[in-house]
Amino acid sequence: MVNTYLHIDHITKSYKNKTALSSVDLTFQRGEIITLLGPNGAGKSTLINLISGLIAPDAGKITYFSESSLTRAVKNRMGIMLQEVQMIDKVRVGEIIRLFRSYYTHPLSYPEILELSDLTRYEKTYANQLSGGETRRLQFALALCGNPDILLLDEPTVGMDIDARKRFWQNIKSLGLDQKLLLLTTHDLQEAQEIADRLILLANGTIVIDGHYEALNQASRLTRITLTSNRFFNEEEQHSLPLIHKSESQDNKHTIWIDNADAFLDALYTTGIKQANAITVQAIQTGGLHELYQSLLPTS
Ligand code: ADP
Ligand code: MG
Repeated sequence: MVNTYLHIDHITKSYKNKTALSSVDLTFQRGEIITLLGPNGAGKSTLINLISGLIAPDAGKITYFSESSLTRAVKNRMGIMLQEVQMIDKVRVGEIIRLFRSYYTHPLSYPEILELSDLTRYEKTYANQLSGGETRRLQFALALCGNPDILLLDEPTVGMDIDARKRFWQNIKSLGLDQKLLLLTTHDLQEAQEIADRLILLANGTIVIDGHYEALNQASRLTRITLTSNRFFNEEEQHSLPLIHKSESQDNKHTIWIDNADAFLDALYTTGIKQANAITVQAIQTGGLHELYQSLLPTS
């Protein structure tokens, strides 16, 4: 498909005995704004670094536009802001931007880059004299130099104060994103919600959820009930119970997602289904995306 800008096919990556990404499958289209959300160590940077070609996967492949490798033509259309970058000493902001622009066939105009990264005032400043947030903006400027079709930003706002963040998101939104693919990472749920159409929650190297923010939040309000029973509900039983949105079974353990836990548990008793199937309710869990994300964070 011409609109498929990135296709990540069964990517696995381990460091020594630690699996950082486990068989990850993802497809990204032109015009998508995607936030990759996840606690520290989830595998976000590993994914960005793999797409950037900085590290190689143990298994799986990545397709860029319609190319099966990171060719020069692909690199010409990609802009990357890594989580950890070393700044070169004794170079002025303006000089380094001009240098990066020279690498690309169709660079963004020099004044536009300065404006989009809020660096117009810092043109003559030495790069190594910038504050943390300003350095982040310079890295953003360098990612923009080629006017990229694929823009990868790994924790772009770390080190920026509230005002700088706000301007950063405003600038991002003025980039003409309907023609680009923007993939950014954050460990902040609120920030993820701010910009993205599509949210991918990563934990322990696997995708937990992937979808539209509002839909996910709504879906996460479903109640999850875990129960043991000698068999799963047959069709007739399902008709006499409130709608089951989703179910998973493993041996005699069944997990179901439903809207109204009370009505469901009530129906289990009154219909006699509980007794007939020897059901024991093990756990009941209700909550939105926030609760889901909290449950993935390490306990402090
Ligand atoms: P995130 O960006 O979501 O915080 P990372 O992708 O940086 O997560 O890391 C995922 C996992 O891989 C973590 O457990 C991390 O410790 C491990 N890891 C990442 N880079 C290396 C490395 N160069 N060597 C060893 N382990 C690494
Ligand atoms: Mg990271």
